Amino acid sequence: MTLFLRNTNYLNADTLELRKTHLAVEPGPAGGLTLCDDIPSDGELSVRDKVVECRGRLVTKSFACGHHHIYSTLARGMPAPPQIPANFLEVLKYVWWRVDKCLDRDMIKASAQASALYMAKHGVTFCIDHHSSPYAIEGSLETIAQAFEKIGLGHLLCYENSCRDGQDCMEAGLAETDAYLSSGRKGHIGLHASFTVDDNLLKKSVALARKHGTGLHIHVAEDLADQEHCLKTYGKRVIQRLYEFGALESPHTILGHCVFLDDNERKRLRESPVWVVQNVESNQNNNVGVTGYTELTDNVMLGTDGMHSDMLRSAKAAYLAGQNTEGVSPDQMYKRFRNAHRFIKTIGAQGDGANNLVILDYDSPTQITSENFTGHFIYGLESSHVRSVIAQGKMIVEEGRVISVDEAEILAYAREQGLRLWKKLEADIV
Ligand SMILES: [Zn+2]
Repeated sequence: MTLFLRNTNYLNADTLELRKTHLAVEPGPAGGLTLCDDIPSDGELSVRDKVVECRGRLVTKSFACGHHHIYSTLARGMPAPPQIPANFLEVLKYVWWRVDKCLDRDMIKASAQASALYMAKHGVTFCIDHHSSPYAIEGSLETIAQAFEKIGLGHLLCYENSCRDGQDCMEAGLAETDAYLSSGRKGHIGLHASFTVDDNLLKKSVALARKHGTGLHIHVAEDLADQEHCLKTYGKRVIQRLYEFGALESPHTILGHCVFLDDNERKRLRESPVWVVQNVESNQNNNVGVTGYTELTDNVMLGTDGMHSDMLRSAKAAYLAGQNTEGVSPDQMYKRFRNAHRFIKTIGAQGDGANNLVILDYDSPTQITSENFTGHFIYGLESSHVRSVIAQGKMIVEEGRVISVDEAEILAYAREQGLRLWKKLEADIV
């Protein structure tokens, strides 16, 4: 079965070379992409082949998210917290640590399906997620994996291990992680952040990562409070603590945020093979501050931190904030936007190959060339231009509608589960 895209203006996402061509897209996790001068005639096509007329539309590789929290999906419009958070720690205490404790299996499924739906519609076909549901840990990762696959997304998942909810939850988190990775799934050893991870959990997590040949996925210095806690409790800064536990040795490790690092930490990080993920809108939302990444490491990718599922929006936000923090250029931001693919390749995960594509109806008032494309990327391209999406060789969004699942059904289920979540939250307030 081959999917033929007729009359595309194909943009090679790596070289930015533009070419008027037809494309032959092969299905499956290892399926390829071929540029071709001709499309087989009707008589030559097999009954399972499909031809899509692109009418000269821009076609390029689809997008990937480096850090998401699908568990936050049902929080949109939820009842106000019992107290207005005054700082980052209170945001966690009054908002997110109340939400994640209320989640059950059905809510997790609804959250993952709805997030995957939004990602697909925004041209995102691969997601690296960081999940938390302290009272519904067992089986949570497989639930998310199946929800993503139902819509058609590739993924790298992890459970957010932490000591914040006691020994039982901590052990259940590690057990879920071990079981998920032992089942043959690719993913990470998730950790919340240094300030809720004691030495015992950190040690066990690094050992588990080595056992499964993967890395950690942890928030680092998202707020100054993480550093202050580390200095007070362990007499050292967060990066030094991670380094001493061997947590910075793997090129599969992802550090989220890294907003508050001193020069020594930045040097240590630069000399390590780990990755950093920037989530500037979340940093602004939590009012923790923002930082520049250009000088930090080349291994920087972009995430949404659960704020939304639109990676083009994340790139624009990072670019705008970056004018003040690092003077980043459109070329540099495009590279950062595309770095997630390099990371996914490093980790050896399937589902992000050449047969993942977006078809864009980009109505530019000016000429698009290889040389000026990144200017279009920052100042013109929006996710509303995403008309169709191909994931692993299969069309999952066609002319703006998700076709791999029934959109209305997914959203109705999410709303039903959202109401259940809000009722539990309200009961907690009383
Ligand atoms: Zn996060």
